[in-house]
Amino acid sequence: MIKLKFKPFDLILRHPFTVATASRTSTPIILTELEYQGITGFGEAAMPPYLGESHATVEKFLSKIDLSKFADPFSIEEIVAYIDSIEAGNNAAKASVDIALHDLVGKLQGKAWHQIWGYNSSQVPETSLTIGIDTPEMIKTKVGEASLFNILKIKLGGGNDKEIMKAVRSVTNKPLYIDANQGWTDRHYALDMACWLKELGAVILEQPMPKEQIEDIAWLTQHSPIPIIADEGIRRLSDLKTFGKAYSGVNIKLMKSTGMHEAHKMVEYARSVGLKVMIGCMTETSCAISAAAQLSPACDYTDLDGPFLITNNPFAEIVLKDGKLVIPELPGIGVRIKV
Ligand code: MG
Repeated sequence: MIKLKFKPFDLILRHPFTVATASRTSTPIILTELEYQGITGFGEAAMPPYLGESHATVEKFLSKIDLSKFADPFSIEEIVAYIDSIEAGNNAAKASVDIALHDLVGKLQGKAWHQIWGYNSSQVPETSLTIGIDTPEMIKTKVGEASLFNILKIKLGGGNDKEIMKAVRSVTNKPLYIDANQGWTDRHYALDMACWLKELGAVILEQPMPKEQIEDIAWLTQHSPIPIIADEGIRRLSDLKTFGKAYSGVNIKLMKSTGMHEAHKMVEYARSVGLKVMIGCMTETSCAISAAAQLSPACDYTDLDGPFLITNNPFAEIVLKDGKLVIPELPGIGVRIKV
């Protein structure tokens, strides 16, 4: 019998996190466990408020799950399809069970998921560290704290874009990922920004315009000198199939995709149609980040900085080497409880 346990937790952010649409100092999460024959798999749901999930909604959803109909955890496809069928939405809640299930099955098989999927764990892109919207002085402080990272992800779209870029470039020459979080609504303005940002060393531009402006986004993608990456505009595989062609690539996150099973399908689909792939995250512990990292060898860009933005990670810290996350050669997702 597979047993599901879960408990609420709050992640404390190192700095208040501000993007084009909101600001916050903590992120609610739910920690899940699936146990089978004495082995425990760990999972996590992270709920940034703008996605609409909370401690209450995740606990309510998880309470509806009845795994008694499954004799063992190995039929992952069937189990995640059942969980997905319980109710629409609840993507982070679904991810928390999916991640624990993958950890459990990997442990029972004695293999890490990157091995099961056939990825080479030594071939991962360097990960970026996110710098939220802030005053020029705080931007400089945050860039100074990011010395272990070789790429920075700069949040724009809040009205002081030029000031932020000037502050960043006054203290570092590192390559930059730019994320405007749907902050610009005029396509010509967005194109001017893309050209200007390229001059300043931006490598990609994430969700520059509101996801509803799909024709403007497709036009921008055609004209932009740097790749335009979807984030808010693409959550699941079905979104990727519908809207992917308007972008140069997609930022895949476990909390959007309902977990590792669908995220893996999204990575494979995106690659098959020539889209670039970023593996990204919300504010998450080493648990969900270790799970996402299993996919990073198949991605062009890694943005898995969650544990570096919080002060109370309940799991062993993620190791960073030469700007890359080290994927532990441990069965399952490779996460360990902090000792
Ligand atoms: Mg984003």
